[in-house]
Amino acid sequence: MDRLKLVLLGPPGVGKGTQAALLSEKFGIPKIATGDILRNEIAAETPLGKIARQTIGQGKLVSDDIVIEIIKDRLKNKDCENGFILDGFPRTVVQADALSHITDIDSVVSMDVDHREIIHRLEGRRTCSRCQKMCHLEFHPPKKEGICDDCGGALFQRKDDLRETIEKRLLEYDRMTKPLLKYYEGRKKLFPVNGMGSMQEVFSKILSVLGFLG
Ligand code: AMP
Repeated sequence: MDRLKLVLLGPPGVGKGTQAALLSEKFGIPKIATGDILRNEIAAETPLGKIARQTIGQGKLVSDDIVIEIIKDRLKNKDCENGFILDGFPRTVVQADALSHITDIDSVVSMDVDHREIIHRLEGRRTCSRCQKMCHLEFHPPKKEGICDDCGGALFQRKDDLRETIEKRLLEYDRMTKPLLKYYEGRKKLFPVNGMGSMQEVFSKILSVLGFLG
């Protein structure tokens, strides 16, 4: 396979992270999630982390300059030579324009599910404080309450997964990120996929729209 430079687009909680991980494993290319990078900065209490903590907690987007710099830097890494999957970037037209100056994206898979389902998915989500792996109290409950199945770290509810913040994030998505659907459609790079269904079903749909199945 040639290099694959892919963007996953969609509202928070649609399953981008899960699908990005599956794609990363299948194609042996890194999954790059600006949300994860920002959370690492917060955990390390860097100056950038201090700015990000407040913004993320309010359900708002971190400034374009910051995330563009993060991505510019990350894409220089040798592991991106054969491609990458971007999860959560770009989130604004300014970011998409900046990305187009850094590299050429092949395809943008947009995932969607209705907002009621998203709220249900995000409210039940718990994140491991050590390895950041996520589980869901109803869909994938941890074997031991409050403990990560993978590494034994303590699970917590991200502040941005609280109901009130979720609603703000969805509004922010509609206002700032949704215009990217038209942006990439106009550039003939958009592949919409319905995000309802099991993890494997959605994965097959993504492979299929990208022409990797049948
Ligand atoms: P995520 O894990 O992708 O839902 O990201 C969590 C939070 O990090 C978002 O709600 C934003 O506050 C911030 N964030 C992540 N990626 C970006 C981005 N590309 N632009 C601006 N803010 C971002």
